[in-house]
Amino acid sequence: MKFQAIKGVRDILPPESALWNRVEQAAREVFQTYGYGEIRLPIFEPTELFARSVGLDTDIVSKEMYSFEDYETSEVIEHRNAVLTFPETVSPLDPITPFRSFSDLASRFVSLAQEALDAGRIPRTPENEAVLRLVGQEVGQFRAYLQNRGIAENNLLVVQIKERVREIKFGDVLALRPEATASVVRAYIEHGMHTQPGNVKLYYIGPMFRRERPQKGRYRQFYQIGAELLGPSDDPSLDAEVIEMLLDFFARVNLHGAKLYINSIGDKNCRPAYVELLRGELQKVRDKLGADSQRRIETNPLRVLDSKRSEEQPIIDRLPHIADHLCDACREHYAELKRQLASRQIDYEENWRLVRGLDYYMRTTFEIIAAGLGSQNAVCGGGRYDGLVELLGGPAATKGIGFAIGTDRLMLSLQEAGATAKCGLEVYIAWMGAQAYPAAVALARKLREHNLSVELPAQEMKFGKSLNLADRLGARFAVILGEDELAAGQFTVKRLADGDQRKLSEAELLEYLTKSRTA
Ligand code: AMP
Repeated sequence: MKFQAIKGVRDILPPESALWNRVEQAAREVFQTYGYGEIRLPIFEPTELFARSVGLDTDIVSKEMYSFEDYETSEVIEHRNAVLTFPETVSPLDPITPFRSFSDLASRFVSLAQEALDAGRIPRTPENEAVLRLVGQEVGQFRAYLQNRGIAENNLLVVQIKERVREIKFGDVLALRPEATASVVRAYIEHGMHTQPGNVKLYYIGPMFRRERPQKGRYRQFYQIGAELLGPSDDPSLDAEVIEMLLDFFARVNLHGAKLYINSIGDKNCRPAYVELLRGELQKVRDKLGADSQRRIETNPLRVLDSKRSEEQPIIDRLPHIADHLCDACREHYAELKRQLASRQIDYEENWRLVRGLDYYMRTTFEIIAAGLGSQNAVCGGGRYDGLVELLGGPAATKGIGFAIGTDRLMLSLQEAGATAKCGLEVYIAWMGAQAYPAAVALARKLREHNLSVELPAQEMKFGKSLNLADRLGARFAVILGEDELAAGQFTVKRLADGDQRKLSEAELLEYLTKSRTA
């Protein structure tokens, strides 16, 4: 049997992983200079957290979440499994005994489940209470009359009872996180961070999970580097500074062709009227839209603007722009954001179709696209989400803004532009002779103490073969250690790029190697 990584996930191997590390390190350094601290978050959370924050009408929540029920195996679970896997009865010779066993098993399950429910070991929700009551009644009925029924009828009832048992929730429903803003806000509230002075500035780095159709730049396990700023103020200069930090980071990693798009989507004062206007306009052209967009006319007209379907583009182009329908406060916020960006010499383009179709998003939205990515060219999305903290049960006055960079896409774009990283083997120690080995071990330790990357072959090899391997491993230097060197108390060091060779004492060798590393 051969195992393979599952669809949509992949391994990131050296030397590519070295480039990832370099990029993540740059993010840490840049974000730190803006006063952000790292938050390490759980990979899974209650599904409900994402359902609430990301929204039920999004693809992420409606079809892309890796959700599962989390419970400990116990007697009640064992009985549930036995009930669910109880075989169909077929023998006309003994049509009663198997059904009697089933009813014993099911009754035992019902009383164990009731006990567990009362003790809170399975969630004490109204749904669970109602279903369990029903199962109890159905099992009682089944048992009372099982002798009066035929095999087929009893089998049918067994199937029904099994269906009903499946409805009981035995544990919390959890999900692998599809994004991290919800978790950051959850943590912010849980730890009472609103009592901290000033703004709370947090960044995270890690994997996210969405069951999407995999393609270049789109994976089921992908990585994000994100930052969130939470606090009492929604001053546009904060929005501008968040964007400045992001662009600083992209410049630091030499991302070419990055382009910033911005928009304002209003707030709860002005957006509802615009959404109604949009809905009205969309209704007029309903027949020309695809099924998804038609559905969204009702559920979330803003999301029609996200559509990538080519036949919908000319229709969308003629729709009213939200910028013409902002209230005074939002218009001023947007104008000030643009002034702030200009004063920071940040180039941008406005894109009126850049919306986040979620109620708690307001005002500023932005996106960055990069070169070399084909259709999946967004490397970063962000925006202001002033309503989210309140939505998740935190203080209503808290404002928030943040972004998430798609690290996979950032890496693709950087690699497309020729970025590479070497694994960086610096020194290969070619030793020969039984006495040379302990000296080679000691030398390796010394070099590693000086942060040099060292390869020490475990087996003795002829020098020719050893040097050939050093070459193929991409080492920069080979240190030759044989009987002559031992006798002379010196090392022969060969620079593999040009064959330059010299004899050095240990102290000289150390100096030579550490100097040439920084050179
Ligand atoms: P979102 O959380 O959907 O706003 O996405 C933020 C960024 O994450 C996007 O701009 C992409 O760069 C990246 N991203 C989102 N989904 C995926 C995915 N399935 N695979 C790779 N990158 C993704």
